[in-house]
Amino acid sequence: MYEGLPTRVLFGAGTRSAVREEALRLGMSRVLVLSGPAHQAFALQLVSALGDLYAGIYDGARMHTPVDVTEQALALLRELRADGILAIGGGSTTGLGKALALRTDLPQIVLPTTYAGSEMTPILGETQAGLKTTVRSLKVLPETVIYDVDLTMDLPAGLSGVSGMNAVAHAVEALYAREANPIVTALALESIGSLAHALPAVCANPRDTVARAGALYGAWLAGICLGSVGMALHHKLCHTLGGTFDLPHAQTHAVVLPHALAYNAPAIPEVMARLCAVLGADDAPLALYELNTAIGAPKGLRELGMPEDGIDRCVELATANPYWNPQPLDRMRLRALLARAYAGAAPSIDPI
Ligand code: NAD
Repeated sequence: MYEGLPTRVLFGAGTRSAVREEALRLGMSRVLVLSGPAHQAFALQLVSALGDLYAGIYDGARMHTPVDVTEQALALLRELRADGILAIGGGSTTGLGKALALRTDLPQIVLPTTYAGSEMTPILGETQAGLKTTVRSLKVLPETVIYDVDLTMDLPAGLSGVSGMNAVAHAVEALYAREANPIVTALALESIGSLAHALPAVCANPRDTVARAGALYGAWLAGICLGSVGMALHHKLCHTLGGTFDLPHAQTHAVVLPHALAYNAPAIPEVMARLCAVLGADDAPLALYELNTAIGAPKGLRELGMPEDGIDRCVELATANPYWNPQPLDRMRLRALLARAYAGAAPSIDPI
């Protein structure tokens, strides 16, 4: 089964100039602009491009979409009588736009500035009182996404690399999802190939426009994968690690991915063969580990601030509720996976 999600996408350099036309197309007449501290300059450009459609701006988006921040933005949206949402930023700003759309059903335009991929999904994660809950609803799926490569040119090298690995993780897990299908598999392989090629070049020279376009294209496809099929062990571990130890989102994905893939490898020989082909390697988990080195990603979870006794807690939490994974969950093996990820060691495919 494959169900295409109805998002209109513009991709290119300078595409942000279409923002007014796109807002009109969606029937917006009073647009609330959302941004974070890193994008004020671009947000102001959009404000002037919107002209008389601009109603106001909220620039307090925060990581993990805290409900109190959403409520502040919602109060402003109501005060301004806004009838459309325009978000410019990374996954955190996109998350705020989605949270507002969930509560108001207003149309959204998103201009992504990282490779997180949230703009292509009908999924929203929100936090309240330290608890993260996930909603899946077409109400939160953005109506229009404008990918403008120019908006990513200033994303620092270090952040670009790990954000790109966050996208690679969506595509890798889509290959062995329970709902995997040929369309999503084709998108995932194209995404992984494009990102694996582009990310080292982006990190070596963040002003390389061709590499930037390749990375953003890969992130777009990875976002479709994430929105189309369910994820497995890797996303579960990252969700648990992020929520429990407040580890940074993209960096955690980069560190864990080679190990989660190595864990699943014995159960998915066909996927491994395809991954090896697209990565041009004999050992896909090792190739992803080496990609992490090439982009200067943090080595291990220790470096991200996780306490060593967190390994056992993470095993407990990640096995507390059953979920789909191609390889059965085994506490001893999960513990070994996390110990390697913690120390920054190379991934190891254990024979079962
Ligand atoms: P983010 O939006 O918090 O951005 C990370 C940092 O990069 C921030 O400090 C931001 O200000 C800065 N930044 C962003 N773009 C920049 C640019 N172009 N130049 C300079 N600095 C820039 O983080 P993220 O990794 O993009 O997204 C992570 C969040 O998105 C998490 O909360 C995660 O749960 C969520 N997410 C949700 C989905 C979904 O489908 N619901 C998918 C992926 C991620």
